[in-house]
This record gives sequence, structure tokens and C-alpha cells, in this order.
Amino acid sequence: MTDYAIPFNCPSFAGNEASYMAAAVANGHLSGDGSFTKACHSLIETALGVPKALLTTSCTHALEMTALLLDLQPGDEVIVPSFTFVSSINAYVLRGARPVFADIRPDTLNLDETRLEALITPRTRAIVVVHYAGVGCAMDAIMTIANRHGIPVIEDNAHGLFGKYKDRYLGTFGALATQSFHETKNFTCGEGGALLINDPRYIERAEIIREKGTNRSRFFRGQVDKYTWVDIGSSYLPSDLLAAFLLAQLEQRQAIQARRRQIWECYDECLEGWCQGQGIRRPIIPADCEQAYHMYYLLLPSLDARQRLIDHLKAQGILSVFHYLPLHLSDMGRRFGGQPGDCPVTEDVSDRLLRLPFYTALTAAEQMRVIEAVTTFTAV
Ligand SMILES: *Cc1c(COP(=O)(O)O)cnc(C)c1O
Repeated sequence: MTDYAIPFNCPSFAGNEASYMAAAVANGHLSGDGSFTKACHSLIETALGVPKALLTTSCTHALEMTALLLDLQPGDEVIVPSFTFVSSINAYVLRGARPVFADIRPDTLNLDETRLEALITPRTRAIVVVHYAGVGCAMDAIMTIANRHGIPVIEDNAHGLFGKYKDRYLGTFGALATQSFHETKNFTCGEGGALLINDPRYIERAEIIREKGTNRSRFFRGQVDKYTWVDIGSSYLPSDLLAAFLLAQLEQRQAIQARRRQIWECYDECLEGWCQGQGIRRPIIPADCEQAYHMYYLLLPSLDARQRLIDHLKAQGILSVFHYLPLHLSDMGRRFGGQPGDCPVTEDVSDRLLRLPFYTALTAAEQMRVIEAVTTFTAV
């Protein structure tokens, strides 16, 4: 593996991670749902105004919990953008559901709400939306369509924690939403996630599913005098050690997001003129979105130009990466009938999108090095 002077991502620390983890060790509570997990739950619930937040071992597992909560059965259909991470749909396919791939909007690269209703059938059991790069989907239109058909919406908000659409936090629109605290996300504990529950009807069962199908959470609250097996479930609780790490990051959310905003705006301002000259498109943020500053990407004119820019940056020790390959054209997607041409915007964007190094600890000097390297490249 080549070592890059400037990696694409590296973990950033907020300061109190080690001391909080030492406190968790001193507490003697290393399993799930200790005091640090509870502190994370209440911080997220208060900050976003969600009725219930539950830490999970990953965003993938939070998505699997949504599939269990919705009682998905073989043959059910789930609508999902083709331009997303596999977990957004694999969680439902695990239950036997069939993916129905939606194309994305050319501006935000989010699910194209104008094409959503045509994908709904009597078998549609869920609509999964992804706030790509932490920029909100058109949630007004999406919720109107979903509510008209009585279909629950799941927000895969892995990129969008603390982003807003029309002044309301992402992750608070759908019946359920999921977060990721993987090392590559804005806030991390290495591997981790959360389930956000906006429809309170799902709360009690979510606690049971997360605790191996038992009513252990109610037992610990003294609501039942013994706990027992009451439903299906699995083990979706992270260790309190990880929650301690995560709490240190979540407490610094203002500083972290402010720094990420600076990095994002610096890229956008410094690359504006060069992009115009090269026919390269910068991210488009609609006026009703406050983005979460998860990534900075460029849309190159062609697949070839993107590869040449990747190589150009690599020669200068800078790692830039492309993103999602269309899911409908993956080996699994094709088994569900995916064909070239099904999602033309996804297919086009997937070939041309390039992400620049973006992490909270990126220094101003490192960022200037990236910008200088990028702007000495000619796409045409
Ligand atoms: C990172 C990511 C996931 C998976 O997150 P994990 O916590 O690694 O399971 C799911 N969906 C999207 C959109 C992601 O970016």
C-alpha cells in the first residue's frame, strides 16, 4: 500500500476520548447501556429533539433493526436510491425483501422525489432515503408521497447528523432514522451507530430487538420484575467504552462542525475559478438545506478526467477517492433485475465524482497543498 502524505480520511480527536474511556474502565461497566451510553442517548435526543435515540454497534445494524421493526417479509419491496452504500438496502434484503432502485437528482445526488411515486406498488413496504454528503433530501415532497400511500420512510442519515432541511434536523422526518459513527464519519467511536425513533410506536419493540429479543431494558428500569424472551432480536448494543469515546466527540459537536464548515468553504471558494475554467461542477446546496459538512466532492467532465486527476494527486502524495458504484449494476443488484440505463443519473455521476481529503484534523497547510495540487491539473 502506498503511503500518502495527505490521506483521504484520518480519525480526528476532540480531546476527552481517552479520559472518558478511563472513566468507563473505572466505572466497571464495560457492557452496553452504562452511564456513557445513557449520556449519548440523552445528548442526541435533546440536541435533535427526537423521542428516542439508541446507540447501536453500527449504522448497518441500526438499518437491520429497522427491517425487523417493520416486519419485512420475503417478497416485500423497499425503494432505495441506487447511489448509496450497500447497507442501506442489504439490511432489507437480509429479510427477503426485493430492492427497487430509484435514480437521484442531478443537483444534490439525493433520491429524485419526482420519480418516487412511479416506483410504488402494492408491495412497497418502506422508502429509504439517504442525505448524500449531509445535504437534505426534499423531505416535504417525499413525506407527502409516503404518507399518501401509508409507507414508512427510513432516513439513512449516516452523512447528515446535525444537518437541517427547512430548519429541521435530518433524521427527524422519517418514522425511523439511522446514524453511523464509523471512523470515516463526522463523529466517530471507530465502529458504531444509532437508531433514531420518531414514531413512538416503535420504541418499546426497538429496545427489545436491540436486547436479543428480551425485555431486559424494562427490567433494568424496574418496569417488570424479571426479564424474558419476548420477541425476535439480536445484540445491537455497543460497549460503554465506545460510548465514552463517542460522548467526547458529540460534546464537541459545535467546534467539530464549525471546523468542517471552514474546510468545506475553503475548498469551495479556492476551487471556484478553476472549476469554472475546467467544466467541473462543485456541490450544489439548495437554499432550504443546512448541510452537515460531511464531504467535498467534484464532478469531473468524464471518467477519464477523473482517473487522471486521481493519478495527478497520487503523484503528489494526496489520496482522493471516488464513491458509490451504482447498486443496481452490482452483482447483487443484477440478480434483482438491475440493467444499465435503469438509473441514468446515478450511472453518469458514479463515473465522474471525486472526493477530496476531508477530515476534521486536516490542517490549513495540508488543505492548501491539496488545493494547489488540484488547481495545477487540466481536465481538458
Ligand atoms: C457509512 C455508511 C453506512 C454504514 O455505516 P456503518 O456504521 O459502517 O455500518 C450506511 N449508509 C451510508 C450512507 C453510509 O455512508
